[in-house]
Amino acid sequence: MADCEETLRELETYLDHELDAPARDAIQAHLTGCMDCLQAFDFHAELRTVISAKCQSDELPAGLMAKIERCFGEDFDGDGRIG
Ligand SMILES: [Zn+2]
Repeated sequence: MADCEETLRELETYLDHELDAPARDAIQAHLTGCMDCLQAFDFHAELRTVISAKCQSDELPAGLMAKIERCFGEDFDGDGRIG
């Protein structure tokens, strides 16, 4: 049976899905009865979701930004500069 300290120590491993079934069961059993640990796990799980979403959305605009810059560049070339 996992206690709070052990549960929180395994938090990252648990979220990485790298725990074996008995350890996972022990933690899930603990989480059903311990709001403190459940909130800690929820917080970290949400944090991971936010971070991975942010990483993905950072990658998308990188390509978009190049296009936008090209568009602006052409605009500036036509409007702002007299060649
Ligand atoms: Zn606990």
